[in-house]
Formats: sequence, C-alpha cells, structure tokens
Amino acid sequence: MRRACSGVLACVMLALPPDAGAQARKVYVSVDMEGISGVNSDNQTSATGAEYGRARKLMVEDANAAVRGAFAGGATEVVVNDSHGGQRNILPEDLDPRAKLISHSFKRHGMMEGLDETFDAVIFVGYHAKASSPRGVFAHTGSGVVRDLQINGTSVGEGGMNAILASWYGVPVVMVSGDDVAIEQQKVTAPNVRGVVVKRAINTRAVELRPLAETRREIEAAAKEAVANAKKPTPQRLSSYVVRMEFQNPNIPDVATAFTEIRSVSPSVVEFTRSSMPDAYRLIRVLYRFINPD
Ligand SMILES: [Zn+2]
Repeated sequence: MRRACSGVLACVMLALPPDAGAQARKVYVSVDMEGISGVNSDNQTSATGAEYGRARKLMVEDANAAVRGAFAGGATEVVVNDSHGGQRNILPEDLDPRAKLISHSFKRHGMMEGLDETFDAVIFVGYHAKASSPRGVFAHTGSGVVRDLQINGTSVGEGGMNAILASWYGVPVVMVSGDDVAIEQQKVTAPNVRGVVVKRAINTRAVELRPLAETRREIEAAAKEAVANAKKPTPQRLSSYVVRMEFQNPNIPDVATAFTEIRSVSPSVVEFTRSSMPDAYRLIRVLYRFINPD
C-alpha cells in the first residue's frame, strides 16, 4: 500500500475517521416537579394525589422541551434524571426517544445521580424555592423535614446544593426553569445561569401560571442557546465542606447523631464536615430523605 503521509503524526491524522473532529457533547437534565409549567397544587405533586397523572404529563412536556433544545444546541447525548419524590414520575414512553432516563429514588446522589466530569452542561427543569422562603411554590429543601441547609456558611436549596456538586465535577449549570423565586435563588450558586420563569409565585401556594405553549417554547430556546454556549470551568474543589442542617423537628437531629461524625449544635441543628462535595452530598441526602419518620 502506498504511503499517503510522511511522519507518524500525519499518518495518524489521516487514519482517523472523517467525523472524529465532531465533539461529543453530553448534557445532564435533572427534572423536579414543583416548578413545572402548569403545576400548582399538592394533589398534583404527590403520587397518590387525584391530579398526579396530569402533573406527570406536564412534567415530561417541560423535560422534552429541554431535551429538544439540548440536541438542537449540539448535544450528542442527553441523560434525564427524574428528580421528584419517588423519582419514577416520567414514563419512558413519553420521554423524547433520544434521551436516556434515570429512574427511582433509592440512589446515593438523588437529583444528581449519574453526573460526573464527562458531562458538558447541566440543565435544571421544574425547580423550586428553598425551605423557609416566604414566597415560592412549595418551597422546601430535599423533603419537608429541613428548615435550612447551609454549605460552608451559604444557605442553599436543592438547586444550590446540586450546583455546588456540579461545580465539583467542573460541569456548568447553564439553564434552570421554575418559578421566579427558584430562578433568583439559583443565581447565588450559578450566577451565569439562563433562567426561564414559567410561573410567578404569589406566596408558597398561590401562583400565576404562564401559558404552557409559551413556557415550553422558551425552555427549548434557552436550552439550545445554553448548551451551544456551554464552556466547562475548572472544577471547584474545596478542601472541606462544612454542612449545617436545621430541622423542623428535633427528633431527626437526635437520631442523626448516631453517625459519630455528626455534631449536635442545638436540639434542631446538626453539623458535619466532609472532604469532598460528593461525600457531603450523600450524607445530606441520607439526613433529609432516609431519616424521615413521615
Ligand atoms: Zn424538589
């Protein structure tokens, strides 16, 4: 065979398949329910609620809008993580057939299960305000038991703790959809995030819903632009993560001190320190979800 190149490097380059220059782009989509377009009542967000079936459909519509946008923005792979309640809300047959689906809540990293440094961008869909917010549809953090969660002195909600975990892996949170309070709060941990406000919270229950067709169009357009412009930052790895959790009820802190590394600060507050954010995240999740008498 005649050599078409001179030198090892040139030969290697000619040997590559024609599409080897096209970059893989992995996008991670975490989908909660309280901040979904059209969702406005707790008989929608509970799996036993009368309107749960409707809410599941609304949830997958917003998720699909984000998936379409991500692919249009250059994603070559999209992983959707069902992140609400029992985390089996999205029916695979309703999801965009190009996306993979992570399902069920018995997982160590909950709303961020499966994320690692191979991803290029993170999108949050249907997010809500943190616990104790005076306004914000169904404001809470993790579950109903948490009054406040602080990581290294900053009070965060689910969007905040998830963004800090993403930054550990060096994956930018590029887009978030939810109510207006959730979007504002997200900017504390992801200042450059693109926000799509799908509803305006009047208090923690009443809400002004925007037209569904409009919000889905906006989610798709924002996801497309956000993914197309995503740039991976250097991973943010601090040497220690000090977590302080305040609970609504002192029974949980009392039980939680069974873990020797968990310090009691007051009857309703505990604190612990971990040397990595994934480690801290896993213990936060155990405390709000798996020590839960309700
Ligand atoms: Zn949530």
